[in-house]
Amino acid sequence: MSQLDKQDPRTQHPRPPFPEQTQTGSGLASAMDPAPDHGERSYRGTGRMPGYRVLVTGADSGIGRAAAIAMAKEGADVALNALPEEQDDLEEVRDVIGALGRRAVLLPGDLTDEAFCADLVRDAVSTLGGLDALVLVAGHQQVHEDVTEQTTESFDRTLKVNLYSLFWLVRAAVPRMAPGSAIVTTSSVSAHEPQARMIDYAATKSAITTYTNGLARQLASRGIRANTVVPGPVWTPLQPTSYPGDEIAHYGEGTPFGRPAQPVELGSAYVYLAGPESSYTSGSTLTVAGATGVAL
Ligand code: NAD
Ligand code: MG
Repeated sequence: MSQLDKQDPRTQHPRPPFPEQTQTGSGLASAMDPAPDHGERSYRGTGRMPGYRVLVTGADSGIGRAAAIAMAKEGADVALNALPEEQDDLEEVRDVIGALGRRAVLLPGDLTDEAFCADLVRDAVSTLGGLDALVLVAGHQQVHEDVTEQTTESFDRTLKVNLYSLFWLVRAAVPRMAPGSAIVTTSSVSAHEPQARMIDYAATKSAITTYTNGLARQLASRGIRANTVVPGPVWTPLQPTSYPGDEIAHYGEGTPFGRPAQPVELGSAYVYLAGPESSYTSGSTLTVAGATGVAL
């Protein structure tokens, strides 16, 4: 089966209950059960991004891995960023893309470091020979039930990963991007329906949408577009590192389709917004949330 075959969205991918599971740190795709589908086999490319040169953050796992694989299958060469401790996941992505005959350059590092963000863009441009799309998927979330117990360090990390890195990477990339290139950012349905226990995360996701919309207006005169993908619940390591194992066992159960998305179901949204087909789409959001999103 590929993503191009017509299927029933309720039963197309695994449904809960899943095995109980938790992970620490930023988590690994390889530790998830069932294994997430990032499109390694199921995504079928049709030449939608020929010769594109793309930098993807959060490219080791989850949505970022699916976006990177989809874009490579559409003909793009990709530079891939993730945290250094996720090197194993990153190497799996490199091998999948290398087997397609496309280039995958690994550029691990921490996006909370301003100097690293500038180096990342510079290195991506020099190794790929240019930059046609900046695809920002990396994100950080952490549960805090009680605002009186959250530290400044924790709040700061959420803001640095989700918001500051957006500013630092865009600032470094824009001077190197030609007319016709695109920026894609990643928000969340939480931006409009914040969970009571993750309010700093929700605030950054709302800010990402607003920032990207404003950026689209600012960059129009340069011929650069900017858009945001708004995912609903997706089966990625972000969740078992955030929530208790018994909640993960029922992850996505209460949604209209009765299951979470698999990362591959987000891939073509990034392809559309990063590639040439969306030539008149800028300042928009594309919600992929199984009927859980808020219509804007
Ligand atoms: P994921 O854990 O697979 O991906 C997040 C990635 O962010 C990590 O793999 C890591 O490489 C990267 N990252 C985190 N901190 C970093 C740092 N300091 N420096 C560099 N990289 C860092 O999870 P995912 O669900 O695929 O998340 C991708 C994006 O999708 C995030 O922005 C997340 O907020 C968003 N999102 C996810 C869901 C969901 O249900 N999974 C829903 C809505 C939005
Ligand atoms: Mg990861």
